[in-house]
This record gives sequence, structure tokens and C-alpha cells, in this order.
Amino acid sequence: MKFVDEATIRVEAGDGGNGVVSFRREKYIPKGGPDGGDGGDGGNVFLLADTNLNTLVDYKFTKFYQAGRGQNGMSSDCTGAKGQDIILKVPVGTRVTDKETGEVLGDLRKEGELLRVAKGGRHGFGNTHFKSSTNRAPRQKTNGTPGERRILELELLLVADVGLLGLPNAGKSTFIRSVSAARPKVADYPFTTLVPNLGVVKTGDGESFVIADVPGLIEGAAQGAGLGHRFLRHLERCRVLLHLVDANPVDGSDPVTNAQVIEKELKEYAHDLYEKPRWLVLNKVDLLEGGEAEGQELLQKIAAGLETAPERTFIISALQKQKTNELTYALQELVDNVKQAERESEAAAAASGKKAESFVWTEGEQNLKDPVNGAQFSGEPELDDEDDDFFLDEEEGVEIVYQK
Ligand code: GDP
Ligand code: MG
Repeated sequence: MKFVDEATIRVEAGDGGNGVVSFRREKYIPKGGPDGGDGGDGGNVFLLADTNLNTLVDYKFTKFYQAGRGQNGMSSDCTGAKGQDIILKVPVGTRVTDKETGEVLGDLRKEGELLRVAKGGRHGFGNTHFKSSTNRAPRQKTNGTPGERRILELELLLVADVGLLGLPNAGKSTFIRSVSAARPKVADYPFTTLVPNLGVVKTGDGESFVIADVPGLIEGAAQGAGLGHRFLRHLERCRVLLHLVDANPVDGSDPVTNAQVIEKELKEYAHDLYEKPRWLVLNKVDLLEGGEAEGQELLQKIAAGLETAPERTFIISALQKQKTNELTYALQELVDNVKQAERESEAAAAASGKKAESFVWTEGEQNLKDPVNGAQFSGEPELDDEDDDFFLDEEEGVEIVYQK
């Protein structure tokens, strides 16, 4: 099972500017030579991999991107200006396919990687270009060529940043619906009726995170332990768990006990998740007669009944979107902070020379695992330009030859 974010956009590179036919006209020079300048090249469209982005959500709102047209040439041998390039930022890990031909244009795997997805048209030539000994007053010129136009399919495998826990009816689906800007799809769907609920939460310009509930954990537990684990794998990377508790269950059950049930299941079935930071969220506060004050009191009781004290607590109404903004902004901040810390430790690891490990490769071996990403290499690994062709790993005492 994979969580996949997709967006389809249209990109148009700029057309090349046309060349122009023009002749010098000056006082006392009755027959000036040709002076028609060339056009400018059309602007390109690039994609740029940026680790600050998590999802493709921005491309679900704006779907058309057009680079600048090259300017036409002018008289006095003036060349037209080049059309403006555009650079579209996408998350690291984005795959780009030409939707019409099915051709994979590329995978943006590394921060800062730049991929041209639509090439600007070539400029046309002005008549100056066609001057020769036999033709001193050429009237030819060429037009610029059209820029490339493509429909691009962007795809990104998502990891859930935030996991959602709670008994059936706690309001998990409602919460995801109410805070999501987009609902990515779940691919490779397994043979079960339990569908993980997935949402992309957009909190600002370019800022977003992924939230997923875990239907397998509790609902699936009754159908046999293990079912839930298929889902749990997708929460391994999540940075925080939200534990949603219904403030006023219709079955009259006690929210304090209900919260304990989840904690117990988590401890038993998913110890890795149990160790993750957890926030306690009291939902359906709109159903409490005493409102938020009553909610606060209940929240204290619930927290006190748990084995592990929650890191933070919130009171919301998912249905009426009360205080859901505060919660999502707090989540975004946490996700950003954790990512920042990860980037810093990666940078530190790279600086201390650990980086070479990600390209361990020996001749003859076709399928080596990339120890950093767990990605499968087929054939030869890609190399950074700055990587040396040859390099001796002293510590291992083995020779590693990098081949391009
Ligand atoms: P899930 O099983 O955890 O996914 O729970 P659902 O999102 O399906 O919600 C169960 C029921 O609770 C639905 O009828 C929702 O409309 C209702 N519900 C969810 N959140 C709230 C809330 O904040 N206030 C009220 N009054 N009802 C809610
Ligand atoms: Mg649900």
C-alpha cells in the first residue's frame, strides 16, 4: 500500500522571438545595409527539488504555467530579449511524466536538482544574418520556433507526518475532512475494507503536511492482530500521533476509559508508535453543555487516567471547526521543526564524511541497497558530479571504484 499524491499541470515554454527585416536609414546614406536583429529565445520551464515542500498540494490549485516569449528582434541590429524562465518548486522525490506520451521525464531525488520540463523556442534570425556578397539587401528573416508544451503528471509517494488514533466514532474522518486541502489517493490497496484516511493539510504558502488515520489498529484488532500492522508501517515516519477522544460518546461510554483502551492497544500492538510523541485531543466539545470549561475539566481527567502524559492537549470540534486551526498550525510547526533537525543532522553526517556510504557499490553487483534510503539500485548508482571517479575507503581496506 502506498500513499500517493498526484497533480496534473500544463506547462508552456515561451516561443522564440522572430527575426526582423530592417535597413539602416540615415541621413546622407541612401542605401543603408540590413540591420534587422535576431529574436530572443523563449523562456524554459524548470522543476526544482526543494526539501521545504512536503506535498504537491499547491499544484492542485494552480495548474497552468507559462514561461515568457522571446522578444522579436529590432532594427539597428538589436536582439530581442530572452523570455523569462519559470522555476516550479516541487518536493524531493517527485516523479515527472509527460502525460501524453507516457515518457518519464525524470525523478527529482536530491535537494536543488533542476529539471527542464519544457524547452523554450529558438530565436528567429533577422535579415542581417542573410547578408552575403551576392545579396546585400536581403529581405529574408526567420520566425522563432514554438516553445514546448506539455501536460505533466507529478507524482509523489507520501509519508504521513501526523498519525491519527481514536476509537471508531471519535471523529477521525471528520477531522481529516475538515482540515484537509486535498485528499491524496491510496494505491496498492490491500484486501480489506479498512481504508486509511489521508489528507494533505495546507497551512501556508508552500507549507503543508500529511495526516493519516490508522483504521487497522483498533478496528482491525478484533479481526486478528497483524492486520493493523500493514497500516502501521505507514506511520513509522510520522512525527506525532494525535489521539482523538470523543467528549460525549453516544453509547454513554466513559471518555476516560475509552482513552485508556487506545493507549493499551497501542502499547500491545504497536510499540514503536507507543514511543512516539502523542498529543491528546478532546473532540466534539460542541456537544458539551458546559462548553470549553467542561471540556477542560474532562481533558484533565482523561490525561490523568493515561499511563503516559500527553505532550500537549487540545479541545476542538472537528465538525464545527472550532480550534482546529490552532491545532493544525501547532502541527505544522512541529513537523517543520523535526524536518529542520533532520536536515541539520544529515548535513552534519555528510560533513563528517558519512556521505560516501550512500553510494557503496561494487563492480558486478546489480542490486545493492542504498543504506541511507533503502532504495534499490539497479545497475550503477548515479553519481554527483563532484564525486571522484576513484576513491579508496581506508577504513574498510577495500577499493571502491565509482564508474560513470
Ligand atoms: P471516525 O470513526 O473516528 O472516523 O469518526 P467519524 O469522523 O466518522 O465521526 C463519527 C460521528 O461523529 C459522525 O456522525 C460525525 O458527524 C460526528 N462528529 C465528528 N466530529 C464531531 C464534532 O466535533 N461534533 C459533533 N457534534 N459531531 C462530530
Ligand atoms: Mg473513520
